Amino acid sequence: MRNIHLGIDFDNTLVIYDEIFYNLALERGFIHKNIQANKVSIREEMILNGKENEFTEMQGEVYGNLIKNAKLQKDLSQTLNFLLKKGIKISIVSHKTKFPIKGKKYDLHQAALNWLKTNNFFEENFIGIELENVFFEETIDQKIQRIKDINCTHFIDDLEKVLEKLDNGIIKILFTKKNFKTSENKNFLTLNNWNEIYDII
Ligand SMILES: [Mg+2]
Repeated sequence: MRNIHLGIDFDNTLVIYDEIFYNLALERGFIHKNIQANKVSIREEMILNGKENEFTEMQGEVYGNLIKNAKLQKDLSQTLNFLLKKGIKISIVSHKTKFPIKGKKYDLHQAALNWLKTNNFFEENFIGIELENVFFEETIDQKIQRIKDINCTHFIDDLEKVLEKLDNGIIKILFTKKNFKTSENKNFLTLNNWNEIYDII
């Protein structure tokens, strides 16, 4: 397990927003209650109904404010703490604009950092990530560059488009709740639950 540097995305990889998006969209009358309670389905449904702008605004509200109610992915803290204790280096590399594109001007980077603090990411006895190993970038290209600069050996992300842009030397891991079939041209490993990481690393 030596010399592994695991890079991890933030939104929807560490943090679960599904229920928050669902409740907010329902409250604002944008979706029917029978829709699947996940961000992707809600976004698709709202775009279909001509509510893309409203979705973008909702996203700012979730990432900037309601994030404080967001939960960690299942088995996340024990898994990361175990890996760190084994001597694996862990960095978090996220990309999103500093302020929402629409709506109230929340500092999205600060909100994300506050969430990490509140959820004990920097507490050695709980998770134990170093603050200096947390990076918030504004664009996807800056994120890719950062992952390269800090020499991640593995990267976990819920977005295929991020993994597709990474160098081939990096082991790419797609975090997904769906049963993802790996096609020939997509050399991703998949992670459906955080405790499966032991089979990969
Ligand atoms: Mg993400």
